[in-house]
Amino acid sequence: SVPHYGAAGTQKERTFIAIKPDGVNRGLIADIIARFEKKGFKLVGLKLVHPTEDFAAEHYDDLKARPFFPALVKYFASGPVVAMVWEGKDVILTGRKLIGATNPADAAVGTIRGDYCIIMGRNIIHGSDGADSAKHEISLWFKENEIADWESAVHKWTYEK
Ligand code: UDP
Ligand code: MG
Repeated sequence: SVPHYGAAGTQKERTFIAIKPDGVNRGLIADIIARFEKKGFKLVGLKLVHPTEDFAAEHYDDLKARPFFPALVKYFASGPVVAMVWEGKDVILTGRKLIGATNPADAAVGTIRGDYCIIMGRNIIHGSDGADSAKHEISLWFKENEIADWESAVHKWTYEK
């Protein structure tokens, strides 16, 4: 088996995806989950959490010097978020493609941000941006025993082997 944060570069690559409080409040949970599910990715971790501002600041630690950081932390801690871990080949990069550009004004139609939001400060979803951040974020949000390492019954209809 693989570590709970997955194995980047394999079919067991894992990424951390969070539906932010605006996405939850706007009733977009089911639609967002459906997009990852229908793509063929496998859900291996899921919980609803209301982050504290301290936890939000830890999650976005890399951005602490940026001018928008205080507003970002308040936004992210303003309500419950749906924290998820998704698994599959190239899920980190492909997950970012499903999400779309950081600024919803630049996000292509058909992406989550392109379809459902307007401004950067309310862009409804987070996704890890690389293997290192995926490992770090999955480990920050999920304990080992909160990740389900399971085999899909339709694996052979999604992958050749
Ligand atoms: N953000 C913002 N203003 C900016 C840049 C980013 O409000 O000028 C917010 C936005 O919600 C974004 C989050 O900060 O999703 C994290 O920024 P990052 O550059 O990591 O973008 P992401 O990885 O979410 O696309
Ligand atoms: Mg980011």
